[in-house]
Amino acid sequence: MAYEHHIDDERCKGCGLCVTVCPKNVLEVSDQVNTKGYFPAYQARPEDCIYCAMCCTMCPDMAITITEIVEGVADLEKMEEKNE
Ligand code: SF4
Ligand code: SF4
Repeated sequence: MAYEHHIDDERCKGCGLCVTVCPKNVLEVSDQVNTKGYFPAYQARPEDCIYCAMCCTMCPDMAITITEIVEGVADLEKMEEKNE
């Protein structure tokens, strides 16, 4: 099963809690400000993410989501192209 990890830059207040809690040291706080003047967290090492969701649980602003990528959607699109 594949997952996607997403941080909403505009919700993030750059508190760094997710960076601290991540067991795989995936996250860092950016040096680029968002539109609200905060430095948001980002996945500096996405390849190390194990999708444990600890960062999502910890974030006080609910800025992090992990979603399951539905496999088969791309295949279905390919099948539809073939049938055209
Ligand atoms: S899901 Fe887990 S491993 Fe991935 S960034 Fe969040 S805390 Fe780190
Ligand atoms: S815990 Fe949430 S608000 Fe804090 S830095 Fe991480 S994503 Fe941003």
